[in-house]
Amino acid sequence: MKEFDLIGNYFAKGGYVRKDVLLGIGDDAAVTKVPAGQCVVTTTDTIVEGVHFLPQTAPESIAHRAIAVNLSDLAAMGAQPAWISLSLSLPSINESWLKAFSEKIHSLSHYFSFQLIGGDTVQGPLSITVTAQGFIPDDNQITRSGAEPGDWLFVTGSLGDAGVGLDLLQNKITVSNPEHASYLKNRHWFPTPRVLAGTTLRRIATSCIDISDGLIQDLKHVISRSEVGAIVHLDKLPISEAITKNIENGIDAITYAATAGDDYELLFTVPEEQRVHIETALASYNIPVTRIGQITGATGKIDLRLNQKPFEFESRKLGFEHFS
Ligand SMILES: [Mg+2]
Repeated sequence: MKEFDLIGNYFAKGGYVRKDVLLGIGDDAAVTKVPAGQCVVTTTDTIVEGVHFLPQTAPESIAHRAIAVNLSDLAAMGAQPAWISLSLSLPSINESWLKAFSEKIHSLSHYFSFQLIGGDTVQGPLSITVTAQGFIPDDNQITRSGAEPGDWLFVTGSLGDAGVGLDLLQNKITVSNPEHASYLKNRHWFPTPRVLAGTTLRRIATSCIDISDGLIQDLKHVISRSEVGAIVHLDKLPISEAITKNIENGIDAITYAATAGDDYELLFTVPEEQRVHIETALASYNIPVTRIGQITGATGKIDLRLNQKPFEFESRKLGFEHFS
């Protein structure tokens, strides 16, 4: 389809330009140069209308989320973003939609210093696949498998906001304070990938994962890959004022924080000797960080505590269920 070839025009100009891209958009393939002493970290994520975002979501939010989920995966490895490829499936050509979508990608490219180096467009249901590549100094990647008993468990930012925001958008709940409501919706529409936190954690964190499916669900990946267990103090979870002031039942607020997805905060482990170091380092960048528990030797077991007492969620609430 000829018209679809023209879509490239929206993406070829206006974005951030990097010196390590020898050939970008416009040829059969891109050519890029990896700096000496660096490894390339690669991740791919697809977001689909009706599965990962609601129908009628603004193009700015779709573009933001498509990029953010990938940069978040790079951040979880400790990588600095460099190059992005974009594959776009569109039901039809809508010029104003494409303009808003591509301008958002360009503005993110300037903010995070990545270059859009290629992509493809097809006609089909609305879905966006992004491949993101970043750099990490040789062998400095942070994996899910390095947590050791005794390490402290930390999270960045606050938890549950995106989940509450989504429920708000679907009219499942109401939030009377308009500023809080808009903060919560924006946390769903425009999640912040923790790129700076990720690179700061290199050589300090023993393991790291980004919270895409919910704190407990993603913690399961870490304890399983690291062959350890964990204690989580639910009363310590960082919960925003927008949630605590509007969700009256404390257990409901904690349930959002522990089980809702799409916050894209980082969950990581740090040995005792690095504990103060990491708190100071992240504070110096104004990145909020909270210690929520500790790694144990009880392999495969997550021990949830509320005010020191054992606690269990209703099982149906555990883990993020996509809303389709
Ligand atoms: Mg991830």
